Amino acid sequence: MAEETMQFKTELEQLLHLITHSLYSHREVFLRELISNAADAIDKVRFEGLNNEEILEGHSDWKITLKADEEAKTLTISDNGIGMSREQVIENLGTIAHSGTKAFLAKAKEADLENNPELIGQFGVGFYASFMVADDVTVVTKAHGADAVKWESNGTGEFTLSDADKTERGTEITLHLKEDATEYLNEWTIKSTVKKFSDFLEHPVVLLTTKKDEETEVEEEVEEQINSQKAIWLRPKSEITDEEYGEFYKHISHDTNSPAETIHYNAEGAIEFKALLFIPEHKPFDMMMNNDPKSHLNLYVQRVFIGNDFENLLPGYLRFVKGVVDSSDLPLNVSREILQENPMLDKIRKNLTSRVLKTLANLKKTDYKEFEIFHENFSTILKEGLQSDWENKEKIADLLLFESTNKEAGEKTCFADYVENMSDDQEEILYLAGENRASIENSPYLEKFKADGKEVLLMIDPIDDFVIPQLMEYKGKKLKAVNKGDIDGDDLKEEEKEFEGYIGYAKDLLNGVKEVKLTSRLKDSAAVLVGDEMSMSPHIEEMMRRMGQ
Ligand code: ADP
Ligand code: MG
Repeated sequence: MAEETMQFKTELEQLLHLITHSLYSHREVFLRELISNAADAIDKVRFEGLNNEEILEGHSDWKITLKADEEAKTLTISDNGIGMSREQVIENLGTIAHSGTKAFLAKAKEADLENNPELIGQFGVGFYASFMVADDVTVVTKAHGADAVKWESNGTGEFTLSDADKTERGTEITLHLKEDATEYLNEWTIKSTVKKFSDFLEHPVVLLTTKKDEETEVEEEVEEQINSQKAIWLRPKSEITDEEYGEFYKHISHDTNSPAETIHYNAEGAIEFKALLFIPEHKPFDMMMNNDPKSHLNLYVQRVFIGNDFENLLPGYLRFVKGVVDSSDLPLNVSREILQENPMLDKIRKNLTSRVLKTLANLKKTDYKEFEIFHENFSTILKEGLQSDWENKEKIADLLLFESTNKEAGEKTCFADYVENMSDDQEEILYLAGENRASIENSPYLEKFKADGKEVLLMIDPIDDFVIPQLMEYKGKKLKAVNKGDIDGDDLKEEEKEFEGYIGYAKDLLNGVKEVKLTSRLKDSAAVLVGDEMSMSPHIEEMMRRMGQ
């Protein structure tokens, strides 16, 4: 096929502009992105090769090769992965495959990408990081059963495609380094960068250099493996440093902070697997960007990467957890669909879930400050579990913190402490949900309880009104919204008779009100509107109204 020149999609052009013009510091991430793409490509072909050996073409000595050419000022990254057809090249390198690119660009400004370039990797724009260091990029690639193709661009507006004469499956990316980026030709720089980002990568990363034989003066190529290739989750805990855990966490989460908790263990017995999980402290950027309700752990079977979209590995309400699960009990050569159905995954999920909940409970006990930060960032997600995970409802409830009438604004309590402080005659856990503390703390609903010295939990997370009622009870104590239904001890039959006439009059006057009742719940206010026990709370009604329902 003849050479053709194509335009980048508009959004991509903007993105390239952003990448090439604003991201000078931390440019080294380009190497991580290209190496991780090469590793992905190898994982893909290896996985497909499990059911279709032909695609391997006899090449399964997996390897990622780096080669620097000082004279030409080029750095080449090649792999024997899955390669790309002409169509795939156009699709993958000419557009941003992920949706919401515009949204990304808006968020990119907001997130100050300039100072947080490691965020780039999260948006499927990793490849374009090349243009941080290169003024010209050439990709030569060949997929099984397709012709080799060459893609070339200087990162401004367009790219060209032409035929290439590569015969083996795989991809070779050549970066023509910018004048101020020639440090990446340096052996030491390359090695230390690879060590930093890709040491634990499962596939060997090798550096090709030409050395002159001292005696014969003949130039010869030397191949040196740079990464230790030790999958970190397979190593004994005692040998892994916090830095190593931290680097790995950053690699899989694209978070810039260290995790709040690291969970690393071997499950043995009925099911055997290794898990390395991280609980973030803050929301990584990708979580702020999308509302994907699913959890995405990386699943390996016998060290072979299978995927990160196995829904039943961890429930959605723990989707903030990042990490790796490696099982040798799962079958390797079955399709993803069949694997997804494997009952073993349910067992793994149960085990992981209880580990994560236990770890959080422990964090609450041992490092309350850190736990509060976690809670601030993730409790809204965690609470979804009250609705979806009945088995662990109480454990989840134990991890929730709430404001309360007995605490200063901003200070929190929890169900356990609440129940502990309840007086003997108090049967129910009282709460009031609303938009913010200021709007509910002087509510007439609270008058009686305040006067009686009873604590009421003030729930001000918008999701509370939806999920807290699902909990129903905690440690045998019923949950009671103080703005709904009758309240304890309201036996006013005598008085009702006395005020019969007035009640009838008020009912006529307040057209639309279901019932008019006497109450002892008020101390200062004259009247208050109360919902039925089963009714929507006024707060939900207000939210629905705002959403146009
Ligand atoms: P992401 O890796 O997040 O998908 P990238 O911008 O890094 O985004 O890469 C875009 C796409 O280009 C990849 O999804 C992949 O399909 C393709 N690609 C990039 N590098 C390679 C490679 N070395 N071999 C095969 N395909 C590749
Ligand atoms: Mg990538």
